[in-house]
Amino acid sequence: MEKIRNYINGELVEPISKAYIDNVDPSRGKVYSLIPDSDERDVELAVAAAKAAFKEWSNTPKEKRARILQRISFLIEENLDKLALIESVDNGKPLHLAKTVDIPRAAANFNFYATGILHYSAHAHSMEDTAINYTLRQPVGVAGCISPWNLPLYLFTWKIAPALASGCTVVAKPSEVTPMTAYLLSEICITAGLPKGVLNIVHGLGPKVGNAIVSSKDVPLISFTGGTKTGAHIASVAAPMFKKLSLELGGKNPNIIFADCDYEKMLSTTMHSSFSNQGQICLCGSRIFVERSIYEKFKTDFVERAKKLTVGPPTNADTKVGAVVSKSHMEKILSYVELAQQEGGKVLCGGKRKIVEGEFKDGFYIEPTIIEGLAYDCRTNQEEIFGPVVTIMPFDKEEEVLMMANSTMYGLASTVWTQDITKATRVANEIHAGIVWINCWLLRDLRTPFGGVKSSGVGREGGFEAFDFFTEPKNVCIKIK
Ligand code: NAD
Repeated sequence: MEKIRNYINGELVEPISKAYIDNVDPSRGKVYSLIPDSDERDVELAVAAAKAAFKEWSNTPKEKRARILQRISFLIEENLDKLALIESVDNGKPLHLAKTVDIPRAAANFNFYATGILHYSAHAHSMEDTAINYTLRQPVGVAGCISPWNLPLYLFTWKIAPALASGCTVVAKPSEVTPMTAYLLSEICITAGLPKGVLNIVHGLGPKVGNAIVSSKDVPLISFTGGTKTGAHIASVAAPMFKKLSLELGGKNPNIIFADCDYEKMLSTTMHSSFSNQGQICLCGSRIFVERSIYEKFKTDFVERAKKLTVGPPTNADTKVGAVVSKSHMEKILSYVELAQQEGGKVLCGGKRKIVEGEFKDGFYIEPTIIEGLAYDCRTNQEEIFGPVVTIMPFDKEEEVLMMANSTMYGLASTVWTQDITKATRVANEIHAGIVWINCWLLRDLRTPFGGVKSSGVGREGGFEAFDFFTEPKNVCIKIK
């Protein structure tokens, strides 16, 4: 069975404990690789390596840093098929999705930030004939990057690439649930000639490895993507140490559908925004509000299409919905379907584990699930489920739907469907969310700031905002008279 290793100081090494954790293929429910059960000793080595590498890397000309990062991007592209297959097995997501979204986007992250840093500039301010002020943007130091399992390489590289481009060195921890593509990334970095110690990847559990990164006095910045509860814990450790923090957390995103929308476009996009990646994208629209005049039609069409989605092994070409990431996550999702029924909800389709025949019979499959009849403020409609489960609710008035949409503690993303641009803009202004999609979903220009409000997070990643985060401004004032 394959045993992966940590990537510390340019080398692939065993954890000091020599202990390993089982890594399960969710499509089969079987252990298929072993990952280091690292602890604070491994993190210490990684931090020391990153600290030692910082001076040289931060003084490496941007052009040279950019070339190395672009090499990494090319190597990801060159290995697209291999990476996509591994990501699909590791995560349970349809291979097609890994091939068209996750891995290309990981390559794009490196390319975008490699080229972006070349155009990132600082400011100068003249105080007429008295003084000149200029602002240096200097890399913060060793960045701690911690990522989740839902878009493993995509989100891992979304942090690492801007950190490295900015001149920071990095200690990173991928999710222990989906570590395999991060391991391949370490091999790619070695091939690409990334200097030793610039990126260090430590595998293992959150409370051990993640916590050691967050509490290290030599890591002044934490970029975290994951659950809101974990984010709160991280903030409680990092804030008293005055660390720079970016927290990208959970969501319970509203999808608001007005009767005057382009119905066909809305319906096909809503299929994606509800069930892509088994509903395990933080940006999925899990609460669907539909204007009453088209509610019954929408319900019939939506349920009919959801029933036709093929649930099955991620590597099958016709699979639209693969396996959810783990047994415990499957149980959590199904417990929410139970709860929804206790809260008075009616399951219109799905709601059960699906048993796929043959070698995949122990895999963690859940049928796409649509629930109606719930109050907007019940737990099912307030808590993040993060699976192929959505609720549908009718509404009559704009103010009413805005009140329901804004009623959760989350504020990550939202979608509005209407052909009336004035109404769309008005609603977009009133929604409490970091992202509003009008007549589309998951479209993004990488230059735009990304992140949520309320319990969906603090700070913004993406675009040049990421460079602002991974660097610190230093103002220099020169008296000229
Ligand atoms: P999680 O919070 O359980 O884990 C995320 C990462 O944090 C993992 O690497 C984990 O090992 C680590 N971790 C756990 N405990 C830790 C601790 N005490 N200290 C430091 N690190 C620790 O989240 P998850 O289950 O992996 O991911 C799903 C969640 O991520 C969902 O809530 C989803 O909405 C959210 N998410 C948010 C975004 C976004 O951009 N806002 C994107 C993707 C996923």
